[in-house]
Amino acid sequence: MRPAPQPKSSECFEFAWRRPKRGHGFRWEQVQGRWLLTEPPEEGFVAYEPLVQETGLFLTFANLDGTDAEFLRFANAYGRLGTYHYYKPPGGEPFEEWQRHHRWMQFLTLLRRELLERRPDLKKHLRWEGKEIVFRFPKIGTSATESWRHRGELRESPLNQQGLPLFKPGDLRGPTWWFLVYAINDWFDEFKKYTPVAPKMIWSEEAHRPQFVFGPSSLLGVMVCQFAAALHGGWPFGECAQCHKFFRLAPGINRANRRTCSRTCKQYLYHRRVEDARRLHARGLTDSQIAKELSVRPQGNKASIEIVKSWVKQESGNDRV
Ligand SMILES: [Zn+2]
Repeated sequence: MRPAPQPKSSECFEFAWRRPKRGHGFRWEQVQGRWLLTEPPEEGFVAYEPLVQETGLFLTFANLDGTDAEFLRFANAYGRLGTYHYYKPPGGEPFEEWQRHHRWMQFLTLLRRELLERRPDLKKHLRWEGKEIVFRFPKIGTSATESWRHRGELRESPLNQQGLPLFKPGDLRGPTWWFLVYAINDWFDEFKKYTPVAPKMIWSEEAHRPQFVFGPSSLLGVMVCQFAAALHGGWPFGECAQCHKFFRLAPGINRANRRTCSRTCKQYLYHRRVEDARRLHARGLTDSQIAKELSVRPQGNKASIEIVKSWVKQESGNDRV
């Protein structure tokens, strides 16, 4: 029997976006005392499909350090957030808009990461007060843009369908998952007004059949969809050891022990590791010490020490990568 095809992260979503071509780019411009991210002229863009090409974009975004320089780098690589379409001046996205969404993504992905740990320290994020759960998080935006996130605290007593408490007092893990659901739904609600994630039927030329998909209408919407899908599917992600981009680890998409996001990064990383091995060798470390230091893993029937040996011996990096 043929195995069922593995789901792709893009399967239920359909989305094309545009990013600057090489040589063109966004820039920060001060307009009436506000920093706005302004875009290059129309001809400076190229179309791409973020959900197909960037399987862990929400984590790459979350991992930015929150400075204008990093937001600019991200915009030049992936395009604008797209949440600010209907505001003046056209084309400009305020720094606060980037900061607000980035902070939230950073916090919510931190919760996800902690929940995946065996013994997460969740006490710093929530506590029980009688029947109420008090969630704590970084303050986001101001009362002008937010209904609750600017307070840095949310008090809730989630109930099940019978109207009884959903969680046992003292439970921290369940309510933290619940908070992620609550926060992401609230995010989707915010998009509803201008950039909704709308369901639609399309005719797939590739599969030659009808498909039911959700069409996000902003890059941020795409990232929140990706996040939601990752929670739904319990998917693991990896961080590229070379360029620090995140990508989805899943059978049929990437091998679970994969270290890099692309062939190019794989080659760069390989050359870097060979150089590191040679430097350590020159310092007098043994092959087994080098294997340990660089966490070299066995490949096929080749032991890690043999791999180090071949790196140290070879003159140029023309070994298989
Ligand atoms: Zn990479």
